[in-house]
Amino acid sequence: MVDFMEKTEKILVTGAGGFIGGWLIRNLLSQGFKHIRAVDVKPSSEWHQKYNEVENLVLDLQNPINTLSASRKIDVVYNLAADMGGMGFIEKNKALCMMSVLINTNLLEASRLNGVNKYFFASSACVYNQSYQLDVESPGLKESDAYPADPEDGYGWEKLFSERMCRHFGEDFGLRVRIARFHNVYGPLGTFEGGREKAPAAICRKVAEAVIRGSDEIQIWGDGEQTRSFTYINDTILGVQKLMDSSYSSPINLGSSQMVSINQLVNIVANIANIKLKRKYILDAPKGVRGRNSENTLIKEVLGWEPEITLEFGLEQTYKWIYDELSSGSKKSWR
Ligand code: NAD
Repeated sequence: MVDFMEKTEKILVTGAGGFIGGWLIRNLLSQGFKHIRAVDVKPSSEWHQKYNEVENLVLDLQNPINTLSASRKIDVVYNLAADMGGMGFIEKNKALCMMSVLINTNLLEASRLNGVNKYFFASSACVYNQSYQLDVESPGLKESDAYPADPEDGYGWEKLFSERMCRHFGEDFGLRVRIARFHNVYGPLGTFEGGREKAPAAICRKVAEAVIRGSDEIQIWGDGEQTRSFTYINDTILGVQKLMDSSYSSPINLGSSQMVSINQLVNIVANIANIKLKRKYILDAPKGVRGRNSENTLIKEVLGWEPEITLEFGLEQTYKWIYDELSSGSKKSWR
């Protein structure tokens, strides 16, 4: 069944100054949506992308009064706001990660009070039971593997709890909720330094720095044999739109099923950069689970589609952008 969005609908995107929020707004504008409110807690000078044709607001959405004003006269909410980052951030900031529960909880209640129709929540592969991810050859995680609950401590628990809040607002109050479990999203115009960056951006940055400085060594967290799948931003945005146009309301994987080890990820980026590197393994660095992949039977059934952009293509775009950022020292836009 389909549940198409109308171009006249009034849309709120939270986390709009972040990586995925910025790309989502760009995509909504290109589709012809005209009434968009963009909200983030960061000063607007720090937003990855900012569009003058939308209403841009700087608000802390942990505050219930702000969630009420952000969702006033809104039809559709995309909640992408969270205090998060890569493994280096979420392993050391569990309380901060869990505080994002206030954003989703207050925004759901504000959406109910303001008569919002449809609500998207950005969940994560970090909700999955950790005991299914102990091996580098771990089979893909299917949606039911979130239970019995033993998610990533902190960040994963917040996502799992917030998924359930969405479900109950759907069941009890008729809010049409859509919930995607993102798997490691990457691409240009995201965080690549400062401690919150994720593996693909971190590896692209380290390789680009080696090229720029003329060095031949790269540091890798762990032994590099841990496995993951990585989803290019365009696939993520397309998947979110397809999910919003569907009538599916339970959590669903939105991730590539092209699983690689971190060592293979480094090989791909080193090939793109045309450099040979010695690897120094930092065995006590944060590493996360041993093996994780997205199992895509459900998304193929529900949306007739799954992420399809190859890691080689996506990393080429990401590496080029990060290399240009580092070598020019100024923020560049993306064509
Ligand atoms: P991001 O950090 O680039 O963007 C999140 C944005 O939320 C930031 O700009 C931040 O300032 C904003 N924010 C944080 N606290 C806020 C508050 N109190 N009020 C208003 N805004 C606030 O992250 P992203 O990669 O764009 O992720 C977007 C969403 O997708 C998040 O919910 C994240 O947990 C989820 N997710 C992302 C990935 C990924 O690989 N990028 C994977 C799984 C889930």
